[in-house]
Amino acid sequence: MMTRMLRFILAALSAVPGLAVQAVAAAPAAPLPARGAWHERTEAIMGTRVYVELWSADELMSHYKPESQLSQINARANREPVQVDRELFDLIKLSTHYSQITEGAFDITYASVGYLYDYRRHVHPTEAQIREALPAVNWRNMLLDEQHHTVRFEHPGMRIDLGGIGKGYAVDRGVEILEARGIRHAVVSAGGDSRILGDRLGRPWLVAIRHPDDPHKVVTRIPLSDIAMSTSGDYERYFDEKGVRYHHIIDPRTGHSASKVRSATILAPTATQTDGMSKTAFVLGPEKTLEIINRMPEYDAVFVCPDGRVLYSNGLRPPAPRPAGAPPATPTAVSPRVPP
Ligand code: ADP
Ligand code: MG
Repeated sequence: MMTRMLRFILAALSAVPGLAVQAVAAAPAAPLPARGAWHERTEAIMGTRVYVELWSADELMSHYKPESQLSQINARANREPVQVDRELFDLIKLSTHYSQITEGAFDITYASVGYLYDYRRHVHPTEAQIREALPAVNWRNMLLDEQHHTVRFEHPGMRIDLGGIGKGYAVDRGVEILEARGIRHAVVSAGGDSRILGDRLGRPWLVAIRHPDDPHKVVTRIPLSDIAMSTSGDYERYFDEKGVRYHHIIDPRTGHSASKVRSATILAPTATQTDGMSKTAFVLGPEKTLEIINRMPEYDAVFVCPDGRVLYSNGLRPPAPRPAGAPPATPTAVSPRVPP
C-alpha cells in the first residue's frame, strides 16, 4: 500500500534520448491522447510506485531511420510531393512560423549543409562543400500542401531535420498527457528543453543557467513556475579544431556554426516556442534577437555572450531604483561579465 504516489512518465522521441517527466501529484487516469505508440511499466522504487511510459515517434520523425516519414521526405521530396501524417506535417509547418519570426535564423532546411558535419567524429565540410550545399538551405523552397499534407522540395539538394524543435514539441506533448490526467504540478524535460507545470510545493522552481565552459558554475538563477525554458549552448555537441569551435547550431546563411552567443536561454509558455527561438541569438546576435524578443510579450531571454556579458530581455530586468533626474534606462540589461 502506498500513502503517497509519484508518477514518473518517460516519453521518448526518436531524436530524444530521454524525455523525463516528473509529476508531483497523482490523479485518476484519463484517456491518453490517441497518437503515438505507448509502452508502459510500473515498478516500486524506494517505497514509491513509479510509472513509466515510453512514447515512440520513430516512424515519424527520426532522420536516422531510413523508413521514417522524415527520411522519406528527405529521400523523395525533391522529385515529388511526399505525403506524411498530419502530426509531422503540422510540426514542419509550425517550423516555418519560427523561420518567419526569426528572419530565417531558425530553418529546418539547415540540414542541407548540416548533414556534412559529424561532431562525434570531428568532421566538418570544406568551404567548397559548403558553397555547393548552401543554395539548398532556404525554408521558402519547401512547398507545403495543407490539404493533402504533402511536402515538396524546390531544390534538389534539400534536406530537413527537426532536431531544433522536436524536443520542445515532445515536452509539450508530455505536459498535455499529464494535464489530461489531472496533474497540476510537474517538470517535464528533454535535455535543454523543459516545461514547468504549476510550481514546487507552492514556491517557484529555482532554475540555474550554467556557465558555457564549466557545467558546475552557475551564471544566474531564475525563479520559474508555469513556464517553458530552453537553453541552447555551443558546448552541447561540438569539437574544436585550430581554435575554431564547430558546434551543432548552424547559420543558415553561411553554413558555418553560428557563434554570436555562447548560450541562449528562452522563456515562454510552451517548450515548442522556446525550442523554436533558442537558436536565434547564435545566428542574429544578442542585440538583434533581444529586439525581436522584447517585441513579443510572451517571451523572455538570457544570453551569455562570447565576451562574458550576460544580457537579459526587458521582462527579466531587475527593477533598478532610479535617482531623480536620471537618464532613461537602456533597452537592454547587462550584468557584470562572467569570468572565463
Ligand atoms: P537540443 O538538441 O539539445 O535541444 P538545441 O535546442 O540547441 O539543442 O537545438 C540544436 C539542434 O537544432 C541541432 O542539433 C540541429 O538539429 C538543429 N539546428 C541547428 N541549426 C539550426 C537552425 N539554424 N535552424 C533550425 N534547427 C537547427
Ligand atoms: Mg532544444
